[in-house]
Amino acid sequence: MIVTRFAPSPTGELHVGGARTALFAFLFARHNGGKFLLRIEDTDRERYIPESVGHIIAALNWLGLVPDNNDKVVIQSERLEIYKKAANELLNNGHAYICVCSKEKLTADRERQIAEKKPPRYKGHCRELNLKKNDVADEEFVIRMKVPKGGSIAVNDLIHGEIIFDLSLFDDQILIKSDGYPTYHLASVVDDHEMSVTHVIRAEEWLPSTPKHMLLYKMFDWNIPAFAHLPMNLAPDRSKLSKRHGATGVFEYKNLGYLPEALINFIALLGWHPSDDREIFSLSELIKEFSLERVQKSGAIFNIQKLDWLNGEYIKNMSTKDLYGALIDFYKNKPEIISDKNNALKLLEVGRSRMQKLTDFQTLKDSFDIHEYDKNLLIWKESSAEKTLTNLKLTQELLRSLLINEFSQKELEAEIMPLANTNGRGEILWPLRVALSGKNKSPGPFEIMSFIGKEETLRRIEMAIQKLES
Ligand code: GLU
Repeated sequence: MIVTRFAPSPTGELHVGGARTALFAFLFARHNGGKFLLRIEDTDRERYIPESVGHIIAALNWLGLVPDNNDKVVIQSERLEIYKKAANELLNNGHAYICVCSKEKLTADRERQIAEKKPPRYKGHCRELNLKKNDVADEEFVIRMKVPKGGSIAVNDLIHGEIIFDLSLFDDQILIKSDGYPTYHLASVVDDHEMSVTHVIRAEEWLPSTPKHMLLYKMFDWNIPAFAHLPMNLAPDRSKLSKRHGATGVFEYKNLGYLPEALINFIALLGWHPSDDREIFSLSELIKEFSLERVQKSGAIFNIQKLDWLNGEYIKNMSTKDLYGALIDFYKNKPEIISDKNNALKLLEVGRSRMQKLTDFQTLKDSFDIHEYDKNLLIWKESSAEKTLTNLKLTQELLRSLLINEFSQKELEAEIMPLANTNGRGEILWPLRVALSGKNKSPGPFEIMSFIGKEETLRRIEMAIQKLES
């Protein structure tokens, strides 16, 4: 059975880059009827942020990427004995050794190497000393891997193809640190083996670590999984995507008003493309379509306009009930925005095509509200207060005489445009729109009228007339 995993380090919230890794591992597993597992890699105690474990799990669940071991997530800090045992095995069969070199010595060596323009590496002082654990004090040694002095190792990456690494360039990697915690390399290999992971799908930055991992598998005499390293996410100017380009966290996107379905769709297209030119994919369609062969090698460009567009498409195509539900959830902390259900549903009916994000609901709502305004705003360009008053009265009379009760945009246009064409479009439509909105910019007058209805329309026009007469 195919088994993939997502193995975040809990050093902060889940970023879109991490979400993309999780999504691809999830899709590959689901497409192949396999399993998708979550493992928390919390062995770097200096960078560990406890709350981030809960955040990461919540973000994955919000996106719909629920791991198969959701109720039994693998946590590395709870498995220290397992890594120690594995390291002992390597000590016993000569693939690892105890190193007692002090931090000071290592730093001095490194500085000297840099000064001599040599690559900084461990000089191998303890490599042949064959120290035993009994010989050394606790917390004063590390366990290092005995990397062969020469030769090479070929990584056959499912995305990048074959890459040959020269082993002489590798350091004797630390496997167990002096605090007793394993390094990423040891823990990752031991866990991938124990969790029966068949496909390691992760970010490209880990590609240079892969030969070290392969060596470890060989030293343990374990089966080596397949590897797929995903392309980097880049900003539109092709620089590395970072905070300065905008939001990075999955929950930041949630708070900005993006829907999880749209975010998933967007993230899927970061480095993967379907067999045709479709752009809208639900999670289940992605599961059906996904394959690693269609993941590109080169960096994936993160284009926020595309996310906005996709989100708008999802908003357009959702049922009103679902959209209303999403808004209730979104405005949990400001329920007054959405509490008038009838009004909200009406707003969505007329305005949802203009919404790209859930936050646009508030803008939409505002656009139909009347604001306090200065009466001079009613006057079109070079026109006068008198002319504006006459025209508003004409419009008011016309509207009052209409026998239609349901103000539809079409009917209103049919009734008012002849008057506007005779007296001037600006002369008629501008004061009407300002009377209805109180704003410099707003939806068009027909749209507002059909939204607020006849009674409120006449009330707002009357208010404008009184302003001009005062
Ligand atoms: N803990 C690593 C990270 O957060 C995961 C690397 C891997 O998937 O092997 O990027």
